[in-house]
Amino acid sequence: MSERDKLLDRFLRVQGWLYGGGKGDDNIEYIRIAAVVTRHPHKCCSPYHDTSPKEYPARTLMIVENAKFDGQFRSAYTCESCIRESEKELR
Ligand SMILES: [Zn+2]
Repeated sequence: MSERDKLLDRFLRVQGWLYGGGKGDDNIEYIRIAAVVTRHPHKCCSPYHDTSPKEYPARTLMIVENAKFDGQFRSAYTCESCIRESEKELR
């Protein structure tokens, strides 16, 4: 299993807890969820993320969710540290 697959697997396990399972967000239509090495700096969008640095430099392994939200395409990134913290909470 590659590092990307591992991170994606971990993310999918905590996604419901981290983002409330998308309950009540009927306007969100997920198009793609993937682990990527970023090409540009990105902020972690997790509501759990309250520690700095909030913005990660390019070439960081992160989770990206591409979704159609209220008819608009959006991308949301989640960092590894938020996934790790979620795993601790769920333990
Ligand atoms: Zn984060």
